[in-house]
Amino acid sequence: MGFKVVVDFDKCESNAVCMAIAPDIFEVRDDDYLYVLDETPAEERRPAVQEAVDRCPKQAISIAEL
Ligand code: SF4
Repeated sequence: MGFKVVVDFDKCESNAVCMAIAPDIFEVRDDDYLYVLDETPAEERRPAVQEAVDRCPKQAISIAEL
């Protein structure tokens, strides 16, 4: 059991909303690209990832169940 963070990079506009919610998982770097620091976070981080899913203005983030 667990989950995986999936980002559609074609939709992402690197506005860092997700990084503000979960900086341990999402990072927009100086090159203006989003990096997923932890694709398979611990279950305790699911609420934060879900918030990022809900608040991403481009609906670029999804959760895949493992
Ligand atoms: S909130 Fe969405 S659009 Fe913004 S950086 Fe994160 S994935 Fe990309």
